[in-house]
Amino acid sequence: MTRRPRKALIIGAGIAGPVAAMFMKRAGIEADIYEAWPYSNGIGGGLQIAPNGMRVLAELGLADELIGLGSIAESFDFYSQGGKKLGSINRDMAKRFGLPAVNMCRATLNETLVDKAWSSNVSVHFEKRLVKIEDRADQPVIAHFADGSEAEGDFVIGADGVHSAVRRHVIPDGPVPFDTGLIGFGGFVPRAVIENLPIGQRIETTFGQSGFFGYGFCSSNPDDGAMWWSTQPSHGMTAAAYRLQSQDAIKQHLRDFHAGWHDPIPAIIEAARNIVVTDTLDVATLPTWSRKRTLLIGDAAHATTPHAGMGASLALEDAMRLGRLMLERQELGVTFQAFEQERRPRAEKIVAIARRNGNSKREFGPTGAWIRDHILKLLLPLTSKGMDFMYAYDARAA
Ligand SMILES: Cc1cc2nc3c(=O)[nH]c(=O)nc-3n(C[C@H](O)[C@H](O)[C@H](O)COP(=O)(O)OP(=O)(O)OC[C@H]3O[C@@H](n4cnc5c(N)ncnc54)[C@H](O)[C@@H]3O)c2cc1C
Repeated sequence: MTRRPRKALIIGAGIAGPVAAMFMKRAGIEADIYEAWPYSNGIGGGLQIAPNGMRVLAELGLADELIGLGSIAESFDFYSQGGKKLGSINRDMAKRFGLPAVNMCRATLNETLVDKAWSSNVSVHFEKRLVKIEDRADQPVIAHFADGSEAEGDFVIGADGVHSAVRRHVIPDGPVPFDTGLIGFGGFVPRAVIENLPIGQRIETTFGQSGFFGYGFCSSNPDDGAMWWSTQPSHGMTAAAYRLQSQDAIKQHLRDFHAGWHDPIPAIIEAARNIVVTDTLDVATLPTWSRKRTLLIGDAAHATTPHAGMGASLALEDAMRLGRLMLERQELGVTFQAFEQERRPRAEKIVAIARRNGNSKREFGPTGAWIRDHILKLLLPLTSKGMDFMYAYDARAA
């Protein structure tokens, strides 16, 4: 008879990692997390957690805290470059799905999850960059780190995101991240920049002839309580190349790119500080999510472009569903297969939606943009209905 796994080595302390660790604890499994970077706070831009992700956070007792730290989004509205309203989706999420969609700083979410993992007696080891996994029969699995140290456990959960090193162990010659040709800029501005506008709790977004801009509140902090982002064709420039430029040069690029866009976009760009630049990456479908005693979850298994606003919520769902399956105490390989069988169809459907949405942010001629805007106006009410399956999902009941 196979021994019941007692210790999980979790690689990555982003979103899926700390949550998976807490659900492992609930299943009676010890969990240690290994994160490549040092502990730090204040990293990243803003993001939105949808009702399905909020349900997982509610299960951990964190929903109210994060609603308090973030800002409820009451709808997601679309405009043309000149400021004509094209439509609105994601209205009344709390009423329709039991929990709201919540905007928050990525750093707030991450710090809250790591704190909660600590207080659940999970060990989080920072500056431990996984470089290799050794999985020999009748021996513990060994994770090797860049600093020469190693850790032993009964199995490995790869929650190490889009650039996953664990993925390379699971599928040595498998798919690698590719650039989708769009680049993202983002950050925070003082609430006052948008506070006097009639946007209330809505996220407002604009489709340009080329590119996309969005903004909304994300916390009650007066200094950086509004988040914004700009998605645009990269024209071959990588995020790393932009990061070599000064903040002034990046801001000038944004001014030029969004020149003539409707208010308050120019004011948001003027107020922007500490602008974060990110490549928009994607990974082709993986042939498998596990190999022997190692399983991938979150972006490591099904990286998604940000255009459906769902990657973090999928990562939260994965962590909880894996915890629930571990409670069934089946053989590890059976649990991993059951996890993949259950999660893959949903994840791949959403990844495909995100890819499709990204296409509307590419470059259009004036006529193309006009046609795109009119099609959007007609399609948004239907699109909205077609997205309900994402938000209605309940990882507690699945
Ligand atoms: C610009 C942008 C905006 C987004 N907006 C949204 C949004 O609004 N809503 C939403 O739901 N999703 C959004 N997403 C997607 C979302 O951020 C991801 O899907 C989510 O972070 C995936 O969580 P994860 O835990 O799988 O990976 P991550 O959050 O990426 O965490 C992976 C962790 O693993 C660590 N790591 C990496 N390699 C190693 C290694 N070798 N050893 C040890 N540790 C390692 C990393 O440092 C990181 O801490 C956005 C993404 C981007 C890029």
